Amino acid sequence: MAEGACGHISAVKKVLGPKERVCDDCVKIGATWVHLRTCQSCGGTHCCDSSPNRHATKHAKASGHPVVASAEHGERWLYCYPDDAFAEY
Ligand SMILES: [Zn+2]
Ligand SMILES: [Zn+2]
Ligand SMILES: [Zn+2]
Repeated sequence: MAEGACGHISAVKKVLGPKERVCDDCVKIGATWVHLRTCQSCGGTHCCDSSPNRHATKHAKASGHPVVASAEHGERWLYCYPDDAFAEY
């Protein structure tokens, strides 16, 4: 996987995509989102920091799952929360 990023990103062998193109938590509360990110530890999909509820960041902090991938069409990148590391793949 991407060289020069962090150990968490290097550990991602196969990037998980979204099971459904929705924010798992926004759906529960009837909220809307801007962009989606998929957690590479559990496969959950959550909304980005441009969204009102920022569920991807909340999920990463609450669960300790470090790496998300963009769940947007045409975007191929990974982001690690604890290291603030970014890598395209
Ligand atoms: Zn990392
Ligand atoms: Zn959300
Ligand atoms: Zn997760």
